[in-house]
Amino acid sequence: MTRTSLKERIKQGLFLLDGAMGTELIARGVEVGKCNDYLNIDSPNIVFDIHRAYLEAGSDAVLTNTFGANKFALARHGFSDKVKEINKAAAKIARRAAGEEKYVLGDIGPSGDFLQPLGNLEPEELKEAFAEQAKALSVGGVDGFIIETMTALDEFAIAIEAVKSVGGELPVFASMAFDKAGDDYRTMMGVDVEAAVSKIASLGVNAVGFNCGTTSLDEYVELAGKYVSAVKLLGKDVLIFAEPNAGKPELVDGGAVYRVTPEDFASAAEKIHSLGINIIGGCCGTGPGHIAAVSKKLQHGNG
Ligand SMILES: [Zn+2]
Repeated sequence: MTRTSLKERIKQGLFLLDGAMGTELIARGVEVGKCNDYLNIDSPNIVFDIHRAYLEAGSDAVLTNTFGANKFALARHGFSDKVKEINKAAAKIARRAAGEEKYVLGDIGPSGDFLQPLGNLEPEELKEAFAEQAKALSVGGVDGFIIETMTALDEFAIAIEAVKSVGGELPVFASMAFDKAGDDYRTMMGVDVEAAVSKIASLGVNAVGFNCGTTSLDEYVELAGKYVSAVKLLGKDVLIFAEPNAGKPELVDGGAVYRVTPEDFASAAEKIHSLGINIIGGCCGTGPGHIAAVSKKLQHGNG
């Protein structure tokens, strides 16, 4: 069976991403603060099982367990020389879980530092680091890339350029993390929705999105509406994707707790879908139960 390419498939109606990786690792006993990305090497079965749980819940694509697998983020755990090994292994685990019918997105998160003069990074070394990660993911067999939880536009643009420079024809999804700021939504670095959408779209990605952040479910629905308006205004052929958290986190004993039930999450997903957004998944606090509820509510796979 020849599978539709990811680029074509995402234009053909509802496409479900997965939920959180970190939340599920903790639920399976992985210590908070451990290098999640290194689990691709030393505990591949845990990662594989999480991918399978999402695919069985109805996800069309899973994200590789590589959110922090760039050189700079890995350096904090002493693994900066393991970029290739970790990303390649992660892509292979996800590929094995997804088989040839479902899709694998190579997950790329922020460096955790800032470009000069705010931080220590030079644009060129940052670009090299993202390119190194994307290259290894592509060697491991991903169908596309997702660059997510970005807050600074300059780092975001560099990441997109780097991924496109090594990714060939593979599609790129790109999203920022927003918080509610007065009547508006902004990233931690002060970027608003219009600025984010126009910048990302100008870099030629296939889908622009939002993920994570600290907003409530109702606010995610409102944010989705702002994305739809911003894309309309641009008049560009770019898809939108949404990966809300399971609501606003509550701090309990120093850890974030998400209390939104799968049913409430699915109701919000339905509202987001009704705005014309077809690519939907979950970020922090969401698990296979949330994705299964969305799949059921939106009658995914039932024609
Ligand atoms: Zn998140």
